[in-house]
Amino acid sequence: MLPFLETLLNTTLTVFTIMASLVYCTVFSLFAFISSFFIYVAINQIVLFASKKKFLNSKFSLLKKYYLASLHCHSYYDGALTVKDIVLNAYKNKYSFFSITDHLEPKLSIDPSWPFAYLKSLIKKGKTLCGLSLKLINNHTIKVYNKKVPDSHVMYLIQGVEISAMDKGKKTHIGIVGLNKMPKPYQALDYYFKKYQKENVLIMACHPFSPNNCGMGLLNLEKYKKCIDFVELNGSFPLPFGYLINSKTKRVANRLKMPTIANTDSHIKSNYFNTFSFVFSFSFWTSASCWFFF
Ligand SMILES: [Zn+2]
Ligand SMILES: [Zn+2]
Repeated sequence: MLPFLETLLNTTLTVFTIMASLVYCTVFSLFAFISSFFIYVAINQIVLFASKKKFLNSKFSLLKKYYLASLHCHSYYDGALTVKDIVLNAYKNKYSFFSITDHLEPKLSIDPSWPFAYLKSLIKKGKTLCGLSLKLINNHTIKVYNKKVPDSHVMYLIQGVEISAMDKGKKTHIGIVGLNKMPKPYQALDYYFKKYQKENVLIMACHPFSPNNCGMGLLNLEKYKKCIDFVELNGSFPLPFGYLINSKTKRVANRLKMPTIANTDSHIKSNYFNTFSFVFSFSFWTSASCWFFF
């Protein structure tokens, strides 16, 4: 073979070997990275599952000390359960404070005042909800209890809404619980924070780090820190997104010293009652400790 051709062949072979090794290393590292991430998430899930089991076993003894709350879910307007099914099951699951927070989205013909109005209409007619008694406590609270059973469990159903506020042309979700009537839709974030500072309501930053679901993001959390009662850990995201988003939320909330609350934000049947936030009293605005399971 000609020496020139031999050198060319050798060089080509060397370049090809280097390139093949590089490609192999990159693919291998990528594979190793992705698999270690999933192993990490899987281990976390096993630990979480074990603690969930332990928690559920001790849930009833804990309930002697604390109240259970869940303050963000959707009725069949854009969820999966009817108001009746939500209330009956929330009561059965021993929640003490519960809120249905449908979207304030008149453009989509969603009426977030409907769940509360429906229950109020039952009270007006003197009806029960499948045997459960309902009593209007104030303009935004309905007591749910079983009249026939002495010392029965009591649940307070609080009127709530998930508002689509506007922030730099984008929709941003905030949750308001304990309001008497629905506000004007599609106003600026500033408008709602100003309005609700004057009212005795609970303000939640819903899923703040989910840009595709209208989370308010870090800058707004920092800006409105003093106006927000709770930063939400959200039970509606599938794995691994739920894990990633909620870990970030918890980290940032700790850094900003903001309390967190775990809510289901249920739109599908299976996750209406999968988060547990413990509160210490009826005036739970100030503190809550969360038990949160995806
Ligand atoms: Zn939302
Ligand atoms: Zn929601």
